Amino acid sequence: MKLEAITFDLDDTLWDNGGVMARTEEGHYGWLDAALGTWLAERGEQHLGRFAERMPLTTYQHRRRELAECHPLRRGDFSWLRERALTELLEAFGLPRSAARLWAANAMARFHALRLEVTPHPEVEPMLTELGRHYRLGSITNGNLAFHRLALSRHFAVTIAAGEMHAPKPDARPFLAALSRLGTSPTRALHVGDSWKEDVMPALRLGMQAAWIAPDTPHGAPLPEGAHRLRHVRELPGLLKRLERD
Ligand SMILES: [Mg+2]
Repeated sequence: MKLEAITFDLDDTLWDNGGVMARTEEGHYGWLDAALGTWLAERGEQHLGRFAERMPLTTYQHRRRELAECHPLRRGDFSWLRERALTELLEAFGLPRSAARLWAANAMARFHALRLEVTPHPEVEPMLTELGRHYRLGSITNGNLAFHRLALSRHFAVTIAAGEMHAPKPDARPFLAALSRLGTSPTRALHVGDSWKEDVMPALRLGMQAAWIAPDTPHGAPLPEGAHRLRHVRELPGLLKRLERD
């Protein structure tokens, strides 16, 4: 059946995300520590000590995991988990609640700015321009980057943040929402992503085709029907040509 729509995962599909996450994680927490330290010094409140010494990054990470366990519906809503954890740690550090909320919000603004410093693979921009002439395009991410602020997002008619809709992939709902808003059915759509569990399996279960970005997996092993393995997203146009011929 002829394909009408393509949905894309973002992180580690359109760009390599590892370095970005590490820089963002350390960057926004380090920024908070430094900016809060300056603010407290100006107010003569150094007796509280250094925030990141009393509340190291590992404490913040641990608290996020605890919150995700206590609030299963929110487990994929990473922005909420982060801001809530920051607010709690800032209050435990000794700030009044209003100041804790303000500093947590400031740190999250910093987080989102750093999170957007992704570098899409160079082939992605021209590829999306070309694909957009033939297919309706959507994005489905479990990540919490403010994708609409990237120029690349203009290629997508639909962008879904699955964690914020409390249904992170592999939940079928973000896929169904994307397909419905793209005005197509699963059998006329292909999903592209790097995660077997969160991208390929849920797409196949719905009857979509799936392109699995798997650079490090040995090729040659048989895949379920409808699944196609690519080493890099740049190989997608070649796959689509083969599918159109079949
Ligand atoms: Mg991914």
